[in-house]
Amino acid sequence: MGKIDKVLIAGGGPVGVVTGLYLARNGIPVQLFDMAPKPPEDHRAATLQPSTLDLFEELGLTDTILEQGFKSRYFQWRDRVANEIVAEFDYGRLSDISRHPYVIQLEQHKTVYIALEAAKAYPDLFKIERPVEVVAVRQGADHVECDVRNADGETVTHRGSYLIGCDGGRSITRKTTGASFEGFTWPERFNIVSTPVDLGKIHGFRMRNYCSHPDRWVSLMQVPGEDGKGLWRCVFPAKEHESDEEVMSDDWINARFLECMNAGPYPIVHRNMYNVHQRVAGNFRNGRIVLAGDSAHVNNPIGGMGMNSGFQDGITLARKLIEIDHGADADPLLERYDRQRRLTAIEYVQAQSIANKRLLEEKDPAVRAERMADLRKTVSDPNKHLEYVKRASLISMWEKSEEIA
Ligand SMILES: Cc1cc2nc3c(=O)[nH]c(=O)nc-3n(C[C@H](O)[C@H](O)[C@H](O)COP(=O)(O)OP(=O)(O)OC[C@H]3O[C@@H](n4cnc5c(N)ncnc54)[C@H](O)[C@@H]3O)c2cc1C
Repeated sequence: MGKIDKVLIAGGGPVGVVTGLYLARNGIPVQLFDMAPKPPEDHRAATLQPSTLDLFEELGLTDTILEQGFKSRYFQWRDRVANEIVAEFDYGRLSDISRHPYVIQLEQHKTVYIALEAAKAYPDLFKIERPVEVVAVRQGADHVECDVRNADGETVTHRGSYLIGCDGGRSITRKTTGASFEGFTWPERFNIVSTPVDLGKIHGFRMRNYCSHPDRWVSLMQVPGEDGKGLWRCVFPAKEHESDEEVMSDDWINARFLECMNAGPYPIVHRNMYNVHQRVAGNFRNGRIVLAGDSAHVNNPIGGMGMNSGFQDGITLARKLIEIDHGADADPLLERYDRQRRLTAIEYVQAQSIANKRLLEEKDPAVRAERMADLRKTVSDPNKHLEYVKRASLISMWEKSEEIA
């Protein structure tokens, strides 16, 4: 009999479900709680990085993800001012270090459903309750507890050995542990818009593209869409003085298509505004309560790193809990988790996603020219190109995290 009775997981988003699946596959009972009646289908993460596809093989998820998603080997940086393609990065260069030298474009909720399906193989070990809200968490010397409120307003207390907060950016778990959430919120909001029109075919885009402009940059990517025929998602930044109503209007969106692609209007099947934050929790662990995914760190979506780094958190933590279950001392392992994942969240995801956004929106013409020249140099030098895609694919993040003692 192991040392862990049960692991409670607040939040059944991508990170909670994958972490729970990893634990259940290794014989540790998990109980997840999620306040949403089903995985939300709002347009969030769309990119599964090579590092994730490699890690997911162990969970038996990668083959289904490959079947359902779109494979994308290249991504483009464009300069909208000069109207040119500046650099095309090739994940194929990762073929000696990853079994998946490409990304898979697949909507976040589909990844969650694939993981939930896999978890059905462990009905006694993997349990998920929804819609229920975790309203309080606390811990004693040898256990954790959480109060969970159901749709009728009844509150039930659950007990376990550890609690993982996978309850997203507004995490009640993080707030309860008292961890700070240091960082900042960008002044502009992003409008994410989808169209079924094949922008790749019309405009020569790769499946992932970042088009820089001092005023009106755009990031574009293709996802399979519900019918699997392809949907193009465009992220347009809204200016601070533009109202939500204006930014969500057909006129505003079509003005962006015209400006960025000299084309349109295009049919719009989805639009959504959101605020963008760069924040990292001051501590990922407080006793038996540990944070993973967005509850521990949030970042802008340029580069497709947030969810992928959350999966790395979840798998790193699950491996440690398995060691604890086999008799290892918990404190040094959980402290190492905090060191590994907090440092790499700052040095890789925060640093890269902030650099990506600044590169997209650089206003000073001289600095822009320098940055574009740097991109050209990087892409044409084999060693720099490889280093760049190792970082972009979060392989460097994983290697660094594993190196931290
Ligand atoms: C527009 C956009 C595009 C993005 N693109 C990418 C991308 O391409 N690649 C990438 O890697 N990342 C991307 N991200 C980031 C990615 O979506 C997040 O990093 C990811 O959702 C984090 O997963 P999570 O499980 O940690 O948290 P969440 O997905 O936020 O899940 C948290 C879950 O906890 C539940 N919950 C919250 N509070 C409670 C409570 N008190 N009780 C019970 N349940 C609770 C919620 O219902 C939810 O299901 C993008 C984000 C946005 C907004």
